[in-house]
Amino acid sequence: MVRPTTCPICDKPVSGAAATDSSYFPFCSERCRNVDLLRWNDGKYAIVEPLSPDQMLERIGDDPEAIEELLNE
Ligand SMILES: [Zn+2]
Repeated sequence: MVRPTTCPICDKPVSGAAATDSSYFPFCSERCRNVDLLRWNDGKYAIVEPLSPDQMLERIGDDPEAIEELLNE
């Protein structure tokens, strides 16, 4: 039974032998797996350690939506 699935990072189909034999499953490649790991690490970091004002500015950049998000938290 083949379960078609797609890489959660790049949406590329991961199927057949590539899916079952891959140590990267459910990701299509090491690259996408690393992207996911970084994503988690980033989120964890943000929750565990409050950002310093400098770090916040760095994170916000010029994005007004990000500023609003921070203010709403
Ligand atoms: Zn991928």
